Amino acid sequence: MSVPTLSRTVQRDPGHEFGFELRTCRWAELAWSPGDTSTSDGTAIIVARQLGTKRRRWDTIVLECDPDALRRRARFGPDRLDSDLLHIVRNAPDEWAYYRDALPHPGYPWRYVREAIHRADDREIIETRKNGNRIEIRRKWIYPDWLERIVAIENKPDLDASAARALGSQLAYDVAMGLADEVWVATRATGDTVEPALFEDLPVEAGILSLEPESLTAEVAWYPRTLAVDEPGTRILERSDGGARDASAARFEYVDPGTKADTRLAIAERAYERGWRSFVDPMRPDCRHFQLRARDGQQALPYCAAMDRCQTAAACAGSCAHYEPEPPTWRTRGWPIEGGPGKRLQQLLAERRRRRRPGL
Ligand code: SF4
Repeated sequence: MSVPTLSRTVQRDPGHEFGFELRTCRWAELAWSPGDTSTSDGTAIIVARQLGTKRRRWDTIVLECDPDALRRRARFGPDRLDSDLLHIVRNAPDEWAYYRDALPHPGYPWRYVREAIHRADDREIIETRKNGNRIEIRRKWIYPDWLERIVAIENKPDLDASAARALGSQLAYDVAMGLADEVWVATRATGDTVEPALFEDLPVEAGILSLEPESLTAEVAWYPRTLAVDEPGTRILERSDGGARDASAARFEYVDPGTKADTRLAIAERAYERGWRSFVDPMRPDCRHFQLRARDGQQALPYCAAMDRCQTAAACAGSCAHYEPEPPTWRTRGWPIEGGPGKRLQQLLAERRRRRRPGL
C-alpha cells in the first residue's frame, strides 16, 4: 500500500474546506506564530498554499524569514529562482571567471548550465560577457540566506476519525522526512474543553491549532516538536496498512541533508513567487459570476454568485456548467488588452501579494 496523498482524504464540501484554508492563510499572515513571541523579534513571514514535493503537498506553508535577508532577496525579482538558477547565483564569483571554472559541476551536462546562464542574464541577476568563445560570469549580488524555518499546516476544519486516519499517515511521512521544521493541523474551533482532534491518532510531533475562521482567532491545543531538518530524512515509500491480512514490510529510503536543504530552498522560492493569493490563477475570474467578497473588511475571498457560495479552483473552470464569460460591455477602456473586472480582481490580488514582499 503506498503512502496516501491528500486526494485520498475524506471529501466534504470542498468549497467549505477551501474557504477555511484561505482563512488559515490570512490568520497566519496576521498572527504567526501561535503562542510564541518569536515574531516579535522581527521575523518576517511569507505564507503560501498548496506547495511541497511531488510526493507530498502541504495545504498552507509559513516561511519564517530573516527580514534583512528577505529584503535583499527582492533584488532577484518577484519570480522564483529554480534549482538551475539557484546553482548559478549561489556560486557565481565576485570577479569575472569562465563559468566552468567558477561553478561546481552540476551533475548534468554543462549545456544546461549555459542555458540557465542565459536565463539569468535575461533576468539581469548576474553579469555575463564573452571572452573569445568562452562565457564569463560575475555575480551582481550575494544570494542571501533568507529562509529560517518552514512550517507546514494541514487544514481540516472538520476532523473526524476517518479524516484523521488519512491525515495521520501524511503527518507520519512529514515527521520521518523532516523537510519542514514543524507540522501542524488546523481544525475549526469547537469550543469544547478538550479539542476533539486531540483524541485522534495523530503523530505527537504534529501541533494542533484550533482556529475560529470568523473571528480569525486561534489557540494551540497541542504544541509541535521541532523536526530534524539538518539530519538525514526517511522517505516512506510504502507501508503496511496494519491489517491482519497485510504482512507486507514498509519500504523507505534515506534522504541526505544536502538534498533536503536544496528541496527546502526550492519550495521557499516557489512560495516567494506564488504566495497564497495566487488561488485566483487557475480560476475563471473572467466569468460573470466570479466575485471577491471581503471578510473582516480586508480579506478578499472568492465567491460564485451562480452557486451562491465559495467555489474551489477545481470547480471554477471553463468546464463549469454555469460558466458565462464577462459581457464585453463590462470591459471598459483598455479593452481587450487590459480585460474587464476579472482582470482587475487578479491585479488587486497580485498587488496585495507584492506588498508582502519587502524590497520589491
Ligand atoms: S459559475 Fe463556475 S466558472 Fe463562473 S464563477 Fe462560478 S464556479 Fe467559477
